[in-house]
Amino acid sequence: ESVLVGGGTGFVGTAFSQLLRSKGYGVTTVSRMPGPQRMSWTELAESGLPVNTVAVVSLAGQNVLDPTRRWTPGFKQNVWASRVNTTQSLANAIIKAPFKPKVFISISGVGIYQPSQTAEYNEDSHGGSFDFLSKLCQEWESVAKLPADLGIRQVTVRSGVILGRNGGMVKQLFLPFYFGLGGPVGRGDQYMPWIHIHDMANLLLFAIENNNVQGVLHGVAPQIVTNKQFAKAFGRALWRPALIRLPEFVINIAFSEERAKIMTEGQKVIPKRTLAYGFQYKYPDIDSACRQVAKLIPSK
Ligand code: NDP
Repeated sequence: ESVLVGGGTGFVGTAFSQLLRSKGYGVTTVSRMPGPQRMSWTELAESGLPVNTVAVVSLAGQNVLDPTRRWTPGFKQNVWASRVNTTQSLANAIIKAPFKPKVFISISGVGIYQPSQTAEYNEDSHGGSFDFLSKLCQEWESVAKLPADLGIRQVTVRSGVILGRNGGMVKQLFLPFYFGLGGPVGRGDQYMPWIHIHDMANLLLFAIENNNVQGVLHGVAPQIVTNKQFAKAFGRALWRPALIRLPEFVINIAFSEERAKIMTEGQKVIPKRTLAYGFQYKYPDIDSACRQVAKLIPSK
C-alpha cells in the first residue's frame, strides 16, 4: 500500500514520510524537484496517481514566515498558489483515478479563525474570510472538497504552529533563544495554538488508518498556551531566560503587519474532535514538547 504526499520533502512531509515508511507504507512525494520516489506536478496531472495509492495527503506550501522574503504581491501569490493549486491538482488526480484511494487528507491552518482573546474555537466552529490568511485557508479547504458521490473519506487538519527541531518556527527561534535573546512576541498574552511535529505526523497517520475519522480535525495540542507561556517553556528547556520581548512594531516592520499577525495575534483552539476520536498525544503539554525540541541532538 502506498501513500502519495504533496509537499513530502518539507518539514512536516519529511517527518510524516519517515513515519509512513517505518509502518511499511510505500511513499511517493509530489515535488518541484526530481528525485527517487518522487513525481513532478506535471507528471501527476499527466499520468495520475501511482498504482496502489490508498491515501493522498496535501502538505505543500511556500513558507509564509520566510524572513528572507518580503511580503510583496508576488510572494503572496506564491504563498496562495503553492497551497491552492497543489491541493487542487491532488483532488483532480483523485477524481480522474480509475482506482480510488480510500482517504484524502489535506492540511490547513488555524488562521481560518478570527484572532480573539475570548472566543473558543472547536472543530464545529466556522472559519471566517476576514483577511488574506483566512481567505487563503477557506480557498485551500474548498479546493480539497471532492464530489460526495466518489465516496472517498476526507479529513482536513487545521494546524497550529508545528514545533520541531528541523523546521517551522523553532528553527528560526532556536539561535536567539540559545543566546538568551529570546522572549515573547508583542503583548505575549495572545494564544499560540501549537502541536509537536511527532504528534502532527501521528495524527496524519491516525487519519489514514481509522476509517471512522472524517471532517475537520484540529491539529493542536490539548494544552492551550499563550505566546509568553511558550517563550517561558522554550527558555526553560534551553536553560535560558526568555525575557527579551520582541516589540510588535519591530515584527510588523520586519514581516509586514498582514503576516506578522500569525505571531502577534492568536486564537484559542481546542482539539475537541481530535480527542473525541481517541487520538493520543505524545507531547500534550508545552514543557515536554519544548524539552524535546531543545535537545541539541534530537531523539525521537
Ligand atoms: P515547508 O516550508 O517545509 O514546505 C513544504 C513543501 O512545500 C516544500 O518541501 C516544497 O516541496 C513545497 N513548496 C514550497 N514552496 C512551494 C511552491 N511555491 N510551489 C509548490 N510547492 C512548494 O512546510 P511545512 O512542512 O512546515 O508545512 C507543510 C504545510 O503545513 C504547509 O502547507 C503549511 O502552510 C502548513 N502548516 C504548517 C505549519 C507549521 O508550523 N510548519 C502550521 C500550520 C500549517 P518541493 O520543494 O519538494 O516542491
